[in-house]
Amino acid sequence: MNHPLIVQNLINNFSALPGIGQKTAERLVYYLLKNSKQEQLAAFGKNLTALKNEIKVCPVCGDYSNGTGCAICGEPKRDRTKVCLVAEAQDISYLEKTGIYNGLYHVLNGLLSPVEGITAGKLNVTALGKRLAEGVIKEVIMGFNPTLEGESTIIYLKKLIKEKYPHIKITRLSRGLPMGGDLEYADEITLQSALDNRTEI
Ligand SMILES: [Zn+2]
Repeated sequence: MNHPLIVQNLINNFSALPGIGQKTAERLVYYLLKNSKQEQLAAFGKNLTALKNEIKVCPVCGDYSNGTGCAICGEPKRDRTKVCLVAEAQDISYLEKTGIYNGLYHVLNGLLSPVEGITAGKLNVTALGKRLAEGVIKEVIMGFNPTLEGESTIIYLKKLIKEKYPHIKITRLSRGLPMGGDLEYADEITLQSALDNRTEI
């Protein structure tokens, strides 16, 4: 189909996103064209422009924050003796929704995956080392998806941490999560129980 150039460009933009195919991209663009007010589209564009400009990565935990600092690292009521490692920044929101975890987080930016070329050097481990060296953290929770990559990362990090800090307790989310599953799709009760019943490894 021959779309006007701007329409075609936007279809290309949308279909480059994960989970959005050509047909869905077309539907979205024509929906915007037909149903949106100009100011809604302007706000959409403004937010897109601001996304990379204004959202910063917290130098401590690797989570995204607006320029004024990381909400979780800066929260004085957080338990600073616990840090939960997560693969991606968005995993924090799934764990936060459970409302039962009051410690800190650390974003690794991926899990070990030879298939995807994610080696240990690509994970955000140096910043984690700095945090552990401060001596405040007493427990490290491995908050990963129960997948092959999650398991490999647990084994690698456990060895790395135990070599230098044998006194730090290392725990993992309980096995209540279905193997191969994803934190994103686990319901809150399952995640609460996975956190509550975490086991030392
Ligand atoms: Zn932070």
